[in-house]
Amino acid sequence: MNLRIGNGYDIHCLGRDRPLILGGITIEHELGLLGHSDADVLTHAIMDAMLGALALGDIGHYFPPTDDQWKGADSIVLLKSVNQLVRDRGWQVVNIDSVIVAERPKLKPHINAMRDRLGAAIGLDPDCVGVKATTNEKLGPEGREEGISAYAVVLLSAIGA
Ligand code: MG
Repeated sequence: MNLRIGNGYDIHCLGRDRPLILGGITIEHELGLLGHSDADVLTHAIMDAMLGALALGDIGHYFPPTDDQWKGADSIVLLKSVNQLVRDRGWQVVNIDSVIVAERPKLKPHINAMRDRLGAAIGLDPDCVGVKATTNEKLGPEGREEGISAYAVVLLSAIGA
């Protein structure tokens, strides 16, 4: 079978004086995600799913937070590089599905922009990029607005198979 599946998860803390960037889209909000890179938790979960499908480890291995090269890094640029790594190994993304868990702000108006941006970064039709958003019903760190998390599943197929 020339198919591989991977899953990814990430969470970042919310804080003041930071932009909120999800799926490569900057969203108006009084809080943003803290992190060494731009802290785009959705794009991070997707990259980990892509790497996981090929048992290649996680993004911390390729873009270590201890390396100043990745300080403030645009995660969409990192996604392009992970996609290239996947392609270099002879695989391509078939589709992505993902969930963002955030109490606020309302993400629905931004979902299609995220699908377009993520799809464009890896040469995938937006119809093959699922992005969903849910609140955590005020439960846990996401529910208390301490952070935002994201889950992703990615299917890969062998190029030319
Ligand atoms: Mg992360």
